[in-house]
Amino acid sequence: MFENLSERLSGVFDKLTKQGALSEDDVKTALREVRVALLEADVSLPVARDFVKAVGDKATGQAVTKSVTPGQQVVKIVHDELVHVLAGDEGEIGTLKVDNAPAPILMVGLQGGGKTTTTAKLAKRLKEKQGKRVLMASLDVYRPAAMDQLKVLGEQIGVDTLPIVPGQKPADIARRAKQQATMGGYDVYMLDTAGRLSIDDALMAEVEEVKAITTPRETLLVVDGLTGQDAVHTAENFDGRIGISGVVLTRMDGDGRGGAALSMRAVTGKPIKFVGLGEKMDALEEFHPERIAGRILG
Ligand code: GDP
Repeated sequence: MFENLSERLSGVFDKLTKQGALSEDDVKTALREVRVALLEADVSLPVARDFVKAVGDKATGQAVTKSVTPGQQVVKIVHDELVHVLAGDEGEIGTLKVDNAPAPILMVGLQGGGKTTTTAKLAKRLKEKQGKRVLMASLDVYRPAAMDQLKVLGEQIGVDTLPIVPGQKPADIARRAKQQATMGGYDVYMLDTAGRLSIDDALMAEVEEVKAITTPRETLLVVDGLTGQDAVHTAENFDGRIGISGVVLTRMDGDGRGGAALSMRAVTGKPIKFVGLGEKMDALEEFHPERIAGRILG
C-alpha cells in the first residue's frame, strides 16, 4: 500500500554523491521523506515535526559507515529514536502495579474500544502469569448486556465476577467490589466502567467518583488503535480530567500503521502498556516498541 520508507530514502540518496559524513542538506532531504512517512502512519503533525527535528539534530554530521547507505543510516537513526520515544521509562511496559492486596484497577474508555474484553484478558494474564486471585466487576449500569458479557468472559477464563445487583449506581458497585475483594481475600479487583460513544461530562463525573472511592493502583485507558488521532484526543481528554496511568491499544491485529502510538506517547507522556491483537482471551501482549517502529517506517 505504502512505498517502503527505506526504499524511498535510497532513491533520494542515490541522487547525492557519497560523502564522508551526513551533510545538513542530505539530512534535510531525508527528513522530509521521514516526515511524510510519519504523517502517512497517522502521527499527528506537531508530533511528527518535533520528532523530525530531534532526529535531524542527531543525524547531522554523523559519519557514514561503509556497510550501509546514507539512506539506511538515516532510517536506523529514525528507528532508534522511535523506539526510544515509544519505550519511555524502564519497567512501565507490560506491568501493572498490583501490590497491596486488594489492588484496584480501573478500566476506562469509550464504548466499543474493547474495554470489557481487555479487562478479562488482563485478569486472565494476572491469574496465569502472576498467580493472582482476581475479581472483576462491571459498572456499566446502562447496558445490562455489558454486565452479562463480563460474567460470561469470567466463566470462560475462570475468574470471579461480582454478582450483578440490578438498580445499583456505579459508585455503589465500586464500594461493593472493594468490600467483596477485601473480605474475599482477592489480590486484585478490576472495575470495568461504562463507556459512551463520545466523551461527555456525565461519564467523566462518574469515573471520577469511582476513582475517589477506590483509589486505583492503575487507571488504564483502553482505546481502539485503528482510530488514529481520535484515540490520541480520547487519551488527552481522559488524562486531563481523571488522570490515567497507562494505555492499552486494541485492534493492533488490524492494518493500522501504528502512528497513534507515537502521538499518544508524545502527547500524554503515558506509557502504552499492552496491545490487543484479537478477540480471543489470549490475544493480549505487552507493547513492543520495536514492532511499532517497524510498522511506522513501513
Ligand atoms: P467495550 O464497549 O469497550 O467494552 O468493548 P468490547 O470489549 O465489548 O469490544 C468491542 C468489540 O471489539 C468486541 O467484538 C471485541 O471482541 C472486539 N475487540 C476487543 N479487543 C480487540 C482486539 O484487540 N482486536 C480485535 N480484532 N477485536 C477486539
